[in-house]
Amino acid sequence: DRSFPYATSPPDKLLGGLLPDGLDERSCRSRYESSMYRRNPGRRPSPLLIAKLRKHEELQRRCGPNTNAYNLAIEQLRAGKSAGSPECKYVVSISYRGLGNRILAAASAFLYAVLTERALLVDPSNKMDELFCEPFPGTTWLLPRDFPLASYTNFSIDTAKSYGNMLRNKVLSADAPPAELPAFAYLHLDHDYGHEDKMFFCDDDQRLLSNVQWLVMRTDLYTVPGLFLITAFQEELDALFPERDAAFHHLARYLFYPTNHVWGLVTRYYRAYLARADLRVGIQVRNFDPRHAQSPHVLRQITSCVWREKVLPEVLATGEHAAPATPGAARSTAVLMTSLRPWYYERIKGMYWDHATATGEDVSVHQPSHEGQQQFGKRSHDGRAWAEMYLLSLCDVLVTSGWSTFGYVAQGLGGVAPWVLHKQPANLTAAPDPPCFRDVSMEPCFHAPHVYDCKMKRGLDTGEVLPHVRHCQDVSWGLKLV
Ligand code: GDP
Repeated sequence: DRSFPYATSPPDKLLGGLLPDGLDERSCRSRYESSMYRRNPGRRPSPLLIAKLRKHEELQRRCGPNTNAYNLAIEQLRAGKSAGSPECKYVVSISYRGLGNRILAAASAFLYAVLTERALLVDPSNKMDELFCEPFPGTTWLLPRDFPLASYTNFSIDTAKSYGNMLRNKVLSADAPPAELPAFAYLHLDHDYGHEDKMFFCDDDQRLLSNVQWLVMRTDLYTVPGLFLITAFQEELDALFPERDAAFHHLARYLFYPTNHVWGLVTRYYRAYLARADLRVGIQVRNFDPRHAQSPHVLRQITSCVWREKVLPEVLATGEHAAPATPGAARSTAVLMTSLRPWYYERIKGMYWDHATATGEDVSVHQPSHEGQQQFGKRSHDGRAWAEMYLLSLCDVLVTSGWSTFGYVAQGLGGVAPWVLHKQPANLTAAPDPPCFRDVSMEPCFHAPHVYDCKMKRGLDTGEVLPHVRHCQDVSWGLKLV
């Protein structure tokens, strides 16, 4: 329908009840406006998920910063002792590394907080406050700057108070009485984590952790498939997410909305370059190896993927033309490319200018930025990355780069199972064949899962335990919900 390039009306502002009513619309325009820009209305949240989110919002208000319960909990933390039965318990989420990793980490910490009835507080030091709107009405999810744990942002695999190290050094044992537990434990769930850290994914350890008032979690991973493997959580997860392949989809659309500045970047670009096309195709090119920043093999990989899978029309030989088109009558496709470099975009754009398409369709190609390389802690860089992820999520069809969390976030927000470009081997001599595959679900991949049978205390292929937790196609040892 060319007359209405935006959502099919009327847009469902609260996404079927996923979003709470009563958040201020002006301070976060994206939350209520994004449904107008999305053609794909997405999956419907289950009534139980909706009810659980409303209950959790109430918990966040009761336990959040500036409440009596929070002040008491901070006193316990200063005293170093676990409270008997505290009114509120907490997960502090430290997210770091690239923006995709940070989003997956915060979504994972949030689901863990919901399942364990803890308030989630996110470490503000990584621009979380400048990029994302506050998700919970009437309170903040940002950890106050005067949080008393010394240098918690530097916690690492070597931190003595990590759960893994406390187990290893026998400071803690799984049968410790609650009164002897420390006031906090650091959960190191990072890609480099060790065997004892991974005990986090065992039922006995969850039982023990449930009595620790403060958990400080650092992860750069999407740990949600791991939570589905913990028996104690399974019944509730099944009820909350009857469609398991939409877990991140719902979590992301609940939690992550661009702040007004970033929303301006998204909407101005969308309206100027994408809105009027009949079809929007997003292509995310992530080169993990700098040698592939300008590779004819990777270029061929992209074009053979989109042509083989009929994502874009093929081009004719120079000088050839399809049946003469009446101006304005041909179907138009807008391609949104995102990449740190301009090279692939320039080649593909040039190809569709130099050559006619076999179908007579018009193809325009756009790339908002080319930042050159990943940068850390720079505001405008992160804002652009977030805007581009969001723009990709507004596309009708997606082609992403395997292994990239940047693409995972876009596909989850958009509710689209992407075509995935195989990661290129270092010594690339030809385009990978086949160039891409269709992902089985829109879920992100958990890149570093545990491979342990908690009951039998031996190694286990965790991709073979549940029918809906399988190995990923892009990262073969990873796990994803299907
Ligand atoms: P991953 O490394 O691909 O898993 O994705 P991350 O988002 O975690 O980290 C990559 C970071 O590099 C992003 O957060 C951006 O800062 C930057 N980056 C990578 N690709 C792009 C892109 O296409 N556009 C922009 N603007 N930034 C990108």
